[in-house]
Amino acid sequence: MENRFRGLPSVDRVLSDDRIRDLRNLYSEGLVTSLVRNYLDELRHLIGVGKGCPPFDSIVETMVANAQALRRPNLRPLINATGVIIHTNLGRAPLSREAVEAMNLVARSYSNLEFDLQAGDRGSRHAHVENILCQLTGAEAAIVVNNNASAVLLGLTALARRKEVIVSRGQAVEIGGGFRIPEVLRQSGAKLVEVGTTNRTYLADYEQAVTERTAALLRVHSSNFRVVGFTQSVAIGELAALANRLNVLCLDDLGSGCLLDTTTFGLDHEPTVQESVAAGVGLAFFSGDKLLGGPQAGIVVGKKDLVDKLKRHPLARAVRLDKLSLAALVATLFHYLKGEPLDKVPVWRMISMPVAEVDRRARDLAQALGEVAEVVPGESVVGGGSIPGSTIETRLVAIRAPSGERGPARLQELARRLRTSEPPCVGRIEHDRLLLDLRTVLPEEDAALGAAVKSSLAGVARS
Ligand SMILES: *Cc1c(COP(=O)(O)O)cnc(C)c1O
Repeated sequence: MENRFRGLPSVDRVLSDDRIRDLRNLYSEGLVTSLVRNYLDELRHLIGVGKGCPPFDSIVETMVANAQALRRPNLRPLINATGVIIHTNLGRAPLSREAVEAMNLVARSYSNLEFDLQAGDRGSRHAHVENILCQLTGAEAAIVVNNNASAVLLGLTALARRKEVIVSRGQAVEIGGGFRIPEVLRQSGAKLVEVGTTNRTYLADYEQAVTERTAALLRVHSSNFRVVGFTQSVAIGELAALANRLNVLCLDDLGSGCLLDTTTFGLDHEPTVQESVAAGVGLAFFSGDKLLGGPQAGIVVGKKDLVDKLKRHPLARAVRLDKLSLAALVATLFHYLKGEPLDKVPVWRMISMPVAEVDRRARDLAQALGEVAEVVPGESVVGGGSIPGSTIETRLVAIRAPSGERGPARLQELARRLRTSEPPCVGRIEHDRLLLDLRTVLPEEDAALGAAVKSSLAGVARS
């Protein structure tokens, strides 16, 4: 019995091994000791139930691997060559230089976050952004929270709890990431009343469903999908007018929060915040990090009495926006006030970048890569549930799979090497080609992308 544990080294012996000592460059002494103790305890248990004891070297190597795994996955920047501009898995909107600087300034010192400098008294964090949002959208009032999911939850909880909310069946959707309109309504304590059919809903459907229990008519942007063909939905202006006539609220979950006219860029029309406000909705809800191009945030604009109810609700405290995001949001909104979003806000620079410019950058990259690469026409998408089905003309750098039976596997290997290079680069594989869309690559990243592709190609050739 004793013998079985004899191979198990002491904590001190492991700690004095050079490979374990080297871990002190990564972690505190206390952490290294506890990693070692925990793994030895685990081995003792395994030996106790009849497993053999691994050799000393393999024990140390496992400990080193476990220690290194602690730092993975770590959040770090990468190059998005997917052609999806607002990519939820890749962090949605990159921020403008000015927005990053604003965060930096506020992060380093104290700030007047909730302090009124004139009065020398407590202030409101909403004060920094409300006026700007009202100017940009035409709304009477505004409140910002952590994200749009919490904005919608706050709005429904504060205004429709224990009452009914009428939603078109075609809009009782799941946005992705578990945000499902029926479930958000349930969570808020409101009762969902679905009207119409999946493809067609008329104004009369809403009108007939309104009772004395109705709190609101809710419009939801269908985001990630589009119903085509025999369809009918109610325009927001008609819905708001009906709500006003029947003395119920009209709430609008816009999703993306677009302030600009997307048709200027050859895209389909994305509903704008200004349109909703002009239509007379009670409240419009939208994200900060989709088409607005700012930080994660949930923005609510609309009628003052309703916004005030949201501000006073206890849930508002639970979902409030932090100071760094607030600073970045204000700086992003300044770009709109100054009329410079196309030059300064990265998602709008990408959307509005002329195809000739993408083409020039793609040719430079393809030329640097040589034989294996060529420039081909393609399409970028906005993503983030905005303008589903609508695309922007682009140029792709296409890297062909090496010929032969193992070609496709080697192309996968190339994509894997690119993802694990420094910085990581993400493209997409289609029809035995790795495609890189420079529209979503920041121009200052072109050189780093080129270098990563070159060294990954060389790595595949060697393997
Ligand atoms: C994206 C989206 C949300 C969720 O917004 P987050 O800011 O990600 O919380 C809610 N509603 C609609 C219609 C959306 O498109």
